[in-house]
Amino acid sequence: MISVIIPFYNEKDSLVILQNKLKKSLTLLKKEYEIIFVDDGSNDNGISRIKADGRLIKTVRLRKRLGKGNALKVGLENSTGDVVVFMDADLQDDPDDLKKFVKKIEDGYDFVNGIRIGRKDGRLVKIYSKLAAKFLRKFLNSPFTDINCGFKAFKREAIGSFTFYGNNFRFLPLDVFYNGFRVTEVEVKNNERTYGESKYGPTKLIVGIFDTLTAFFIYKFAEKPLHFFGYTGVTTFFIGFAILFYLTLERIFHRILLYRRPILFLGMLMVIVGIQIIMTGIIGELIVYFNKRK
Ligand code: UDP
Ligand code: MG
Repeated sequence: MISVIIPFYNEKDSLVILQNKLKKSLTLLKKEYEIIFVDDGSNDNGISRIKADGRLIKTVRLRKRLGKGNALKVGLENSTGDVVVFMDADLQDDPDDLKKFVKKIEDGYDFVNGIRIGRKDGRLVKIYSKLAAKFLRKFLNSPFTDINCGFKAFKREAIGSFTFYGNNFRFLPLDVFYNGFRVTEVEVKNNERTYGESKYGPTKLIVGIFDTLTAFFIYKFAEKPLHFFGYTGVTTFFIGFAILFYLTLERIFHRILLYRRPILFLGMLMVIVGIQIIMTGIIGELIVYFNKRK
């Protein structure tokens, strides 16, 4: 059975159209299905337009806006299919493309991510997305072209242990890939947004950079924090140490008094900060250790 999970926040005009299109596409697939609409605390009462339909179409409502990640999580908890599809509610994703995803799953893949062809987004957003994808490919071995595409399908077991929090749903594909599941991509159509407006403003770019850094840190160093803090700390410490060492030699052999050397402060600062960074890493290691020990 396929569970289609659709998080939405204030998309009242799109919901009914999407629902009808989805039903058509899913019926053509000749598989058992359910559609789960998750209302992320909308205030336009769009949920009342959805025609609940027994087991086929369910609605879940969050008490307040908790963000797309939480909506997806709640949708998952309320679904039962062994194959799960995530899809945006704004009609930018085309239900017609569902068959491509299902085909890949039938081919034996565990996780299928979309690649938006002819993506309808601002220039800046597109450039940023390309750069972020490159960064992830280079530093985190990401196999994905368009990791942020909201349209994806996967076997339920593939995301078994994923912990949704904050914005990390964006990195779900990477997590699955790291856990050794077979991942692949399919090209999907991307339509212009017809109704309502994008829920993410220009701050999306800045927040996106933080999220990418978090992912970088978590996936690369969460299990070995000292590898990250150790390098930075030791480098800082030794630069500071070299400065102080040089000043000391000059003081002893050339009698240059230290109060005339403003760089002394930089040297002292770097030694102290360097040690603190290393200590932060050691505390990080302790936290990991105690969490693993159980
Ligand atoms: N969404 C949500 N909660 C939020 C923000 C967005 O449920 O806090 C939903 C939104 O209604 C849509 C999907 O997530 O179904 C993608 O959002 P949007 O289309 O605004 O993002 P964009 O396509 O502009 O990146
Ligand atoms: Mg959209």
